[in-house]
Amino acid sequence: MTTGPAGTPVATAPTTTPALDVESVRRDFPALRQDVAGRPLVYLDNAATTQKPEAVLHALDAYYRRDNANVHRGIHELSRRATLAFEDARARVARFVGAEAGELVWTRGTTEAVNLVAWSWGTENVREGDEIVLTTMEHHSNLVPWQILARRTGARLRFVEIDDEGRLRLEDLPRLLGPRTRLVAFGHVSNALGTVNPAAEIVRQVRRHSGAAVLIDGAQAVPHLPVDVHELGADFYAFSGHKMCGPTGIGALWGRREILEAMPPFHGGGEMIRVVERETSTWADPPHKFEAGTPHIAGAIGLAAAADYLRALGADALVRHEREVMTYALERLGRMRGIRIYGPSDPAERSGVVAFTLGDAHPHDVSTILDSQGIAVRAGHHCAQLVMRHYEVPATARASFYLYNTLEEVDRLAEGLTAVQDIFGVS
Ligand code: PMP
Repeated sequence: MTTGPAGTPVATAPTTTPALDVESVRRDFPALRQDVAGRPLVYLDNAATTQKPEAVLHALDAYYRRDNANVHRGIHELSRRATLAFEDARARVARFVGAEAGELVWTRGTTEAVNLVAWSWGTENVREGDEIVLTTMEHHSNLVPWQILARRTGARLRFVEIDDEGRLRLEDLPRLLGPRTRLVAFGHVSNALGTVNPAAEIVRQVRRHSGAAVLIDGAQAVPHLPVDVHELGADFYAFSGHKMCGPTGIGALWGRREILEAMPPFHGGGEMIRVVERETSTWADPPHKFEAGTPHIAGAIGLAAAADYLRALGADALVRHEREVMTYALERLGRMRGIRIYGPSDPAERSGVVAFTLGDAHPHDVSTILDSQGIAVRAGHHCAQLVMRHYEVPATARASFYLYNTLEEVDRLAEGLTAVQDIFGVS
């Protein structure tokens, strides 16, 4: 047990991992060193996007200052350097999730990765009357592409529901699976509830009861948990760079090599071809087959720098720190009058997202009052309207933590919420 700033005991798992030196981590992030509304910024909107460390800013700057050229094209020194850096970045990011470089397709982020699978794999493999199993916990980016595919093909969507603790009702999964199930797609960690789903177990169940392919949305998992795509055993895994200290506009789709090889291209254009004739063309091997046009070279290099940065700090230390901050937040906020916290009550089942409502105060007002005190949280439906519908709320406020957040910042959040209670007379 350690003690939080408010004197509250904080449960920490016994471990031999050295604790994260948060003050030193914070010094790596220039954006955290600023005042907002006259007070030091408390940035608790990490599920939306994370701040960037010097290592990432330096990698972007060095690329543009020294190596900037197009990749895979020019036979000149700068193009060679850019190509080497770009492909080396792919190998490092792939290794970060336990994959090989040839299995990792650069995308703009999770959303584009899911759309790539829905259009390319989906068009070839999903027919009228087939079924796609999703959950009602999904971010819209792992829901709407499947709705579009279902509309196009005449397939049917089926859903694993959530319980009131914000966990998937996995006991229903076997009866949702059958001979017509073509795909099961689910989020590894919910951005609206913080729930960490038992991804490997879900994949095992799908394999036991159907021949369906499995896609995991890892947007909220790769930044926060050690992820090994081969251990998870799915067919596709999608994630975004900007939620793990990397740049915006870059992310990746991991796919099983033989599946990527069998899939048709997503976009057509330069870079993704082998031979072009008047009427037809042949395709490059994966991953380049899926990367038409000039890619986000700097983004890939920046994302690799982010992966290296996180790896150097150590996954265990990150998990332990986030759990400590999140557990403290659950305890500290949980004691406040009129608060309702969504998602599992057991910290072991959740990641660093704490979504809540406070009395009758609208989450947008909560967020505005917090902003006036220099505290950044998100308010809204968090692109998860099915979750809001389950709880019959239009929106929630959401504090989401990352490696640089401190227990003192949780206290600032709690103080801010006390002001909300006073203004709205929450009793
Ligand atoms: N899935 C989840 C669980 C997310 O949290 C997000 C981002 N909020 C996405 C998908 C979409 O990611 P991006 O906007 O980077 O494509």
